[in-house]
Amino acid sequence: MKETEFIWKNGKLIKWSDATTHVLTHALHYGTAVFEGIRAYKTEQGTAIFKAAEHYDRLLESAKLIYMNPPYSTKELIEATQLLLKENKLESGYIRPLFYFGYGEMGLNPSKNKVDCIIAAWPWGTYLGEEGLKNGIRCKISSWTRIDSSVVPPLAKSAANYLNSGLAKQEALRCGYEEAILLNSNGRIAEGPGENLFLIKDNTLYTPDISENALKGITSKTIIECAKHLNIPFEYKSIIRDELFIADELFFTGTAAEVTPIREIDGITIGNGSRGPLTEKLQSLFFDIVSGRKTLNASWLTYA
Ligand code: PMP
Repeated sequence: MKETEFIWKNGKLIKWSDATTHVLTHALHYGTAVFEGIRAYKTEQGTAIFKAAEHYDRLLESAKLIYMNPPYSTKELIEATQLLLKENKLESGYIRPLFYFGYGEMGLNPSKNKVDCIIAAWPWGTYLGEEGLKNGIRCKISSWTRIDSSVVPPLAKSAANYLNSGLAKQEALRCGYEEAILLNSNGRIAEGPGENLFLIKDNTLYTPDISENALKGITSKTIIECAKHLNIPFEYKSIIRDELFIADELFFTGTAAEVTPIREIDGITIGNGSRGPLTEKLQSLFFDIVSGRKTLNASWLTYA
């Protein structure tokens, strides 16, 4: 990770190296934290945070889902992020807000513990590689099942949920793949460990909806909006594994992964074995939007 000068903590900017916490912090023991991943892009009009309000609204929803009451509003958190980017002189990068139950009581009820809130930001390039963005990546269907809403809330970006994602990611890497695809407890396609999944068949775009235990992806929503703009038909759909293998095109979306084509799953070539034509169109429009070259909705970019 490339360090920057400041981290925002509980309303103040502090030095990166001073942003430490006690070993008995509640979240460290029980995963009682929620977070976001946001990107800021360099544009001709300056540094732009992509869909800032959507990300902070989702962070507050994640908090609600784990019975946490953070003391900040979306508006305050956006202002804190603008300040952080400016003071760190970041033209582009990754933004990581984290709300966590801090030091105090031990045990499974953290309701008396303080909620500590931090926002960090640092330069970060592509998550799955430039080559992956262009030519696609190789995936494994995970042996780990995506978490289910009867166990923990899959709509929350909670730290605890990411043990599931992290195991799937590491298993895929250990087996020689670049990324995992998780099925849900009904054997339907859920998503990647940190990405939503899209399928194209006969010129129509499909993705599983949240009832399949996928996260409510902000990039996913953007791609659906791009498809509308490009007159590509779209439907939410319950997807079985077989449909992946006979898809014309597949790709992942996510703040980190952006729009990454999938060229192979478990040794089976998908479509033409590279980035498909509709994926390329959607990906190109996506990058034009985030970098301010094209505008579908002016409220999507917040300048720092
Ligand atoms: N699913 C999971 C499990 C994720 O962690 C992410 C990344 N936030 C996504 C999907 C994609 O969501 P978004 O486009 O909002 O980053």
